[in-house]
Amino acid sequence: MAKGVLIVLSGPSGTGKGTVCRDLCRQNPNLYCSVSVTTRSPRPGEREGESYYFSSEERFRELIEQDAFLEWACVYGNYYGTLRQQVEEKLSKGIDVILEIDTQGAKHIRREVRDAVFIFLLPPSMNELWQRIHGRGTDDSESIKQRFAAAYQELKEIREYDYLVINENVTDAVKDIQAIILAEKCRIKKDKDYLSRFFEEGETFDLSLY
Ligand code: ADP
Ligand code: 5GP
Repeated sequence: MAKGVLIVLSGPSGTGKGTVCRDLCRQNPNLYCSVSVTTRSPRPGEREGESYYFSSEERFRELIEQDAFLEWACVYGNYYGTLRQQVEEKLSKGIDVILEIDTQGAKHIRREVRDAVFIFLLPPSMNELWQRIHGRGTDDSESIKQRFAAAYQELKEIREYDYLVINENVTDAVKDIQAIILAEKCRIKKDKDYLSRFFEEGETFDLSLY
């Protein structure tokens, strides 16, 4: 069985990564949105094990020691990490996995994982980004300023990504990402097992039987 595709989705806070990921996973049973561990406090409506696994800093450090993270980073003053076992298990079952992580985490995955696909999600404008962060109504004004300022830094990393998707409306952004996943699955380098079986069969094919 071919392994699943690992997709990394980054973009400034408030762009709509969470919204787009939720719709993607709802529409694609073969796509799993990884649930990270974070030391950030839950926002109203966020439930344990759905948006994140919420953890103390002490527990987070223990998980680092145990090498439980595929990658981890400190983002806007809190720690966030991707659980290695969760991702590897799904990929080995042929399930595609999407990681909604920051640019530091993406850098790490780029070094560690062959064949991962990197997508950068952008809002249609910085003004719209400001409106969305405010409109979400989940962060205090200090946190909003910090996230907005960080957006400019994150944009500097955009050239390291394979694809750019503009989240003008969620339906189109979801369609764009589905198209990217499909294209990646058709890449010749992805299906080495299938190709070698195909060539082996060709070598032993007995034309005299036909
Ligand atoms: P992120 O995960 O990137 O921080 P969210 O998914 O939390 O962003 O989205 C931030 C806010 O923007 C939310 O209130 C969400 O409903 C809204 N939003 C997301 N995508 C769009 C869109 N295409 N048009 C308008 N609002 C959007
Ligand atoms: P938020 O607090 O808005 O949910 O997320 C803040 C930032 O942390 C976002 O850029 C998000 O993509 C990033 N993030 C969430 N989970 C992880 C993770 O497991 N690893 C890394 N490196 N970043 C993450």
